[in-house]
Amino acid sequence: VRIVVGMATCGISAGARPVLDTLIEEAKLKNLSNIKVVQTGCIGMCVYEPIVEVYEPNKEKVTYTHVDTEKAKKIIDEFAQKTEEPVESTSLMDGDFYKKQKRIALRNCGFIDPENINEYIARDGYAALGKALTEMTPDEVIKHMKDSGLRGRGGAGFPTGVKWGFTAPNKADQKYIICNADEGDPGAFMDRSVLEGDPHAVLEAMAIAGYAIGATKGYIYVRAEYPVAVKRLEIAIKQATELGLLGKNIFNSGFDFEIETRLGAGAFVCGEETALMQSIEGKRGMSRVKPPFPAVKGLWGKPSCINNVETLANIPQIINGGPKWFRSFGTEKSPGTKVFALGGKVVNTGLVEVPMGTTLREVIYDIGGGCPDGKEFKAVQTGGPSGGCLTKDHLDTPIEYETLMAVGSMMGSGGMIVMDEDNCMVDIARFFLEFTVDESCGKCTPCRVGTKRMLSILEKITEGKGTMEDLDELESLAISVKDSSLCGLGQTAPNPVLSTLRYFRDEYIAHVVDKK
Ligand code: SF4
Repeated sequence: VRIVVGMATCGISAGARPVLDTLIEEAKLKNLSNIKVVQTGCIGMCVYEPIVEVYEPNKEKVTYTHVDTEKAKKIIDEFAQKTEEPVESTSLMDGDFYKKQKRIALRNCGFIDPENINEYIARDGYAALGKALTEMTPDEVIKHMKDSGLRGRGGAGFPTGVKWGFTAPNKADQKYIICNADEGDPGAFMDRSVLEGDPHAVLEAMAIAGYAIGATKGYIYVRAEYPVAVKRLEIAIKQATELGLLGKNIFNSGFDFEIETRLGAGAFVCGEETALMQSIEGKRGMSRVKPPFPAVKGLWGKPSCINNVETLANIPQIINGGPKWFRSFGTEKSPGTKVFALGGKVVNTGLVEVPMGTTLREVIYDIGGGCPDGKEFKAVQTGGPSGGCLTKDHLDTPIEYETLMAVGSMMGSGGMIVMDEDNCMVDIARFFLEFTVDESCGKCTPCRVGTKRMLSILEKITEGKGTMEDLDELESLAISVKDSSLCGLGQTAPNPVLSTLRYFRDEYIAHVVDKK
């Protein structure tokens, strides 16, 4: 019998640690040596944490939600046949929460013990690296990735194979693979969950990427605010190195690859690739003009390839399953799946992974269960501070990079915040703008001054002192900031304002003093 306890940050903060300890102690006390209690990463339904799941051979999985130490004792008592009444369990599998999902990046999250490399290996872990190193040339690995159509999950959606193909031919004495784990969008926790639940998938993918482009060194740039993820990454690097899956002459292929972590101090701009590299180099994280692109001149002036956590988590399975298998999910232009951190005014908040092309309605209603307390859905924000707010008219929009852009939002890295009838959309726009004003690195004037000016107009409006003229100025300023900022932070910072002005203009007008 295998009992797993969700011990990602969501579970730990809901009280999973004493639950895990109780299960282990009680099983020991009752001499139940056939029970193995292990920690795992995020199981998905964060709203039900602490979650305990029981796997028994030839039986359906049983899920226990909101488990405390008392309930944990009763679960073990049931195995010791000391309870008269069965402990109340929840069949999360019966609902649409999992039925509409396809787990590729999250395949191991919520099942394996992320601190035990053997559990990863037992699920085909490091098989893709072995296959790449012993059966494929670097060019074949790149072609595989191009054929799969995998696009960067960090937000921009650039094809991963093409990115690798840009870096591979550039000759240098040292090249780098960088994992961008600087997840900073308010409400986003996709990358944190992958790192906490399946760190070896990221390491394996980085080694495959290193082989493909000719890099022998990898850095994971991860937020210091993610201590669980950092700890599990460090453990995973140590374990993989001890087993010869990282380091010198991996799989006797002659390929060497090592990985180090670098901690970010929480600056949102450091998620931008050029600022991120500056930060790894020990400089202040500020974006720089491109070109030169990182593929030519990246970390310490050497050719570098930067991939996001979720992008990397897909790679071992694409090598194992093949491009055709990967393309059997999602859409023509956006193959595969996308992980979303579903939050806000929705019943089932949590971590979900759906095939691209799934509609917003399916995610918010079928998986998310709609708005709580019978409230009416008003809007959904995708893409965090860089994205936009969409209305109920967009609920049937299939989730793809292009379709979301076409309606004024973006995929972003995967934050999805639902709002109901009680939310003021002007306040929402102000919240995101406050965030980007705080996080602007200050290097270029449109972003440094423009976003601040936008915020002061927005504050005037929310205080009920704004005019119709202010609305016009806000809109034209937003367009200027978007068009003339140096990096992605400034270029996308006006999106929440522009999208709410576009779809919820009446709410802005309701705030101004000279309504027309
Ligand atoms: Fe810095 Fe903003 Fe300019 Fe980017 S757009 S370089 S964050 S000031």
